[in-house]
Parts: sequence; C-alpha cells; structure tokens
Amino acid sequence: MDTMIFSIVQPEMQQPCLPVTQFDEQLAQDIATLQEAMQTHQESALAAIQLGIPKQIVAIDITDEQARRQQFVLINPVIVGYSEKTAIFREQCPSLPGETIETPRAVAVNVEYQDPQGRHQQLDAGGYLAVFLQHTLDHLHGRSPASYLSPLKKQRVLTRLKKQIKK
Ligand SMILES: [Zn+2]
Repeated sequence: MDTMIFSIVQPEMQQPCLPVTQFDEQLAQDIATLQEAMQTHQESALAAIQLGIPKQIVAIDITDEQARRQQFVLINPVIVGYSEKTAIFREQCPSLPGETIETPRAVAVNVEYQDPQGRHQQLDAGGYLAVFLQHTLDHLHGRSPASYLSPLKKQRVLTRLKKQIKK
C-alpha cells in the first residue's frame, strides 16, 4: 500500500490523537498499516497520526546502544516518569523532512501503555529508546521537535515546510 507521511504543517499533525477503546480488527489493521509504512519508508518509529490515523498508536523498532533490537507497539502510551537528567539530541523526523533539530530530552522515561491485545504494560527506557519514545509520543499531542525551537526558528522551519507541500 502506498502511504504518505504527513508533514507537521498539516492540521492533522497539530491535534491531539484519540485514545483507543476497541482492541478489535480495525486496530489490528491500523497497526499493520503502521508497520508496513515503517518498512516502506525505512523509519524506526512512527505514530499513526503521521499516516493520518488520529489514534494513540505508536510503533518503534530500533537497535539500541547495546545492539539490542527494541521492538514495541504501544497503544494509549503515557509517560509517567522522567529522569531529572536531560541531554540534547539531534533529531530527524519524516514529518520534518530535511531538518535536524536539537531537542532536549530526559535520558530515561517510564511509560505506561497497552499492548495490541489491550493488556496494561509498563516500560522503563533509557538511551535511544527513551529518546524515540519521547519524540514519537509527542506526535500524539500535536508536538514535534519543532515545538522546542524558539518562535523565530520555528517560524523559519514552518515556512520552509509549507513551501515543500505546495510543490
Ligand atoms: Zn517524528
């Protein structure tokens, strides 16, 4: 299936996503669509809203600092704890094509979520996984790395992205 990844200047990307309440065939389809798009676009993490699906669904498939594969599908994820220590990460995002943005992130987070079967789960994450989680969960709330820029820099990025869309 041909999927397009939404840019942050599209209105869909600026709205909060709805919680998933039915763990049914439709959800399974949405997850499959998300995973297919990750393969097609070779992305390590995507939120469903980046495909225009306004639901709290996120998929992550990364190799971490210890060369371990970290693969998760998170439904209704919420960050319930942040480390006090933060660091700046240079982040890229398919919804911000051509941009690399220095973004402050907690170096570890604790996330509560439901798995695709609706079971409640908890995840203690550090390193890259913590960064990918914070980045991708931001999209569920209409945020992106651009949200952390000064108003002037943000305006510059948005202007450039709007021009890209018109092409
Ligand atoms: Zn992103």
